[in-house]
Amino acid sequence: MLKITPHLGILVIIVSIAGLWFPLLGYFLLVVFATLMITSIFRGRWFCGNLCPRGSFNDFWIGKITRNKKIPGFLRSFWIRIPLFAMMMGFMGYRLLSTEGVINQIGMVFVIMCLMTTSIAIVAGISISPRTWCTFCPMGTVQNLIGGTRYQLQMDNSKCVSCKKCDKSCPMQLEVHANERKPDCIKCGRCITACPTKALTFNT
Ligand code: SF4
Ligand code: SF4
Ligand code: SF4
Repeated sequence: MLKITPHLGILVIIVSIAGLWFPLLGYFLLVVFATLMITSIFRGRWFCGNLCPRGSFNDFWIGKITRNKKIPGFLRSFWIRIPLFAMMMGFMGYRLLSTEGVINQIGMVFVIMCLMTTSIAIVAGISISPRTWCTFCPMGTVQNLIGGTRYQLQMDNSKCVSCKKCDKSCPMQLEVHANERKPDCIKCGRCITACPTKALTFNT
């Protein structure tokens, strides 16, 4: 992760709360959407583990008060994620059309969307695990679909001692030690740091 990553969570509070009085803050979400779309082409879900304000918020704010339970497997299923993506895009499209192009109202649509999704992320993060929302977040799903095969984690089998410290360090609760593609890896690098034998690297 980047040095700035732990500090980005404050932006979630600023947009979700201050945005109710200053709707133009909602346009920050467009910057987020554009950035994650571009980075996903080259690095899959790298944005989620390094630049996403809500990802940072989940890890470093919710992480302090979570119950840290296992994330239910069905939440990773595309049978859940694709319909949720379609529903949220449809809802946002409907709300945007009803603004009739008024700049402040458009900003408010983004602010409300941020507030709603942040509320779900907080409840899921506290009651299950900090990154629960990130297993089915529509923006995470988009990055998975665009660049899920890019910038994959590689394991040197000859160095692995099967300690599974990598699994325990993974905020997405992936089976890191299983040497297979991980399209939902958010490229945070925590497993690499946790591995005592330096068996893990990213395939550039
Ligand atoms: S899954 Fe969504 S909320 Fe989580 S880090 Fe990625 S874009 Fe941000
Ligand atoms: S597999 Fe490693 S880099 Fe990927 S999300 Fe898990 S800990 Fe982070
Ligand atoms: S932490 Fe390293 S050595 Fe341990 S299981 Fe994971 S890859 Fe293997």
